[in-house]
Amino acid sequence: MNKNISQEAWRLFWVLSAGIIAGLMTSQFWPAIALVLLAYCIWQLRQLFRLDSWIQQGLKRSQTPNAGGVLENIISNVYRLKTSRKRGKKQLAQLLGQYRDSAEALPDATVILTTTGEIQWFNEAAETLLGLQSRRDLGQRIDNLLREPKFRKFLQTAKRQQELRLTSPLDNEIILSCRLINYGQDKLLLTVRDVSIREQLNRVRREFVSNASHELRTPLTVIRGYLDVISADNGSTDELRDKICILLEQTTQMENIINEMLTLSRLENSTLEAGEGETLCMAQMLRQLVLDVIQSGRAETGQITVTADDSLCLIGMRPEIMSLCNNLLYNALQHNPAQTAIELQWFRSGSGAPCLAVNDDGEGIEQQHLSRLTERFYRVDSSRSRESGGTGLGLAIVKHIVQRHGGYIDISSTPGVGSSFTCCFAISRVVECAGDKS
Ligand code: ADP
Repeated sequence: MNKNISQEAWRLFWVLSAGIIAGLMTSQFWPAIALVLLAYCIWQLRQLFRLDSWIQQGLKRSQTPNAGGVLENIISNVYRLKTSRKRGKKQLAQLLGQYRDSAEALPDATVILTTTGEIQWFNEAAETLLGLQSRRDLGQRIDNLLREPKFRKFLQTAKRQQELRLTSPLDNEIILSCRLINYGQDKLLLTVRDVSIREQLNRVRREFVSNASHELRTPLTVIRGYLDVISADNGSTDELRDKICILLEQTTQMENIINEMLTLSRLENSTLEAGEGETLCMAQMLRQLVLDVIQSGRAETGQITVTADDSLCLIGMRPEIMSLCNNLLYNALQHNPAQTAIELQWFRSGSGAPCLAVNDDGEGIEQQHLSRLTERFYRVDSSRSRESGGTGLGLAIVKHIVQRHGGYIDISSTPGVGSSFTCCFAISRVVECAGDKS
């Protein structure tokens, strides 16, 4: 038994013994015992009051009641709890301090927001990148400080983890990349990174590709002109004409590459707003494309089937969507044996997104190539692709077009079974087809 409890038991024993002796001596046995027990209860009650006032006064060590017995037990337990809570608090404060220090040391701006956008905390980088000031801005709504409409929209509607590019409110030259992350139960973490250098490098690369392509076009046109003249010259020998023919083929290939590089540059250098574009009846567009392909002799009648939802129209840029359809269909024809069956599907996916799928039962592609197919100049079989007039830029263009229309491309393929290229666009681009839109 615990020492204090046995002390309490002894105390009760002595009190009762005193009561019994007093009772026997005064021949008032029960009243004497009742009196002694009453005195004991009053004394315990007094001890309890002292304990209560000691707790209320903040458990000061100097005022610890000298209780003994069970109360001594309670006091030492309370002390133990107090000390371990104090230790826990200290550790938590240390941990918080370390977390805060590391968040302060981050080069990225970090801002903790409520779900309604009020600023609760931010680090030093947020002061430099966003111009926030603790005294002025804590408790303010962030969209009152970063006033660009697209930021306000981002805050309200952004799918978490999505990225937004902004110019810094402090300096137009600084490009910021913002992300929002759900955090805790009802908090948002806004992280902002300075991506000016990356943007600048990208811009230089895009400008270089665009300028180089433009510059190559002129000499190539001159070369083609002279080659045309020489090949038309009746005086040239058959051997020379064969060589000119090869040169003309290579010139065409170079022209194709340059044109596709310029198309890619154009796509990269301009942005498409969420609802920008015209209403396109994809079902009609696909059927017309198939007719054109058959008429041009690239495919046989019945080789390509179209399964399309006639009521499903797409808001998009006509030349871009046509180029996307062309690229996927020509790929299915070009990279597979003649008479490969091809199916074009236009439908709404399970999530409601409008999707175009081009499926073929051709040769298929090995798994290791799939994730790289949309890279510029990536080909599964370079020499074969070049021979068939491929530039290696078609799927890169397709990917850019889908992304500009708020979507993504999904490629699946099994060697010997066939391939499927599915482009899904933003749900907001769906529109019911009305009348005879084309
Ligand atoms: P290319 O100009 O060579 O067609 P793309 O970027 O359009 O360039 O395609 C990249 C590569 O993907 C092609 O070289 C080809 O190897 C492969 N590919 C594309 N579509 C298909 C398909 N339907 N079936 C088999 N291989 C394909």
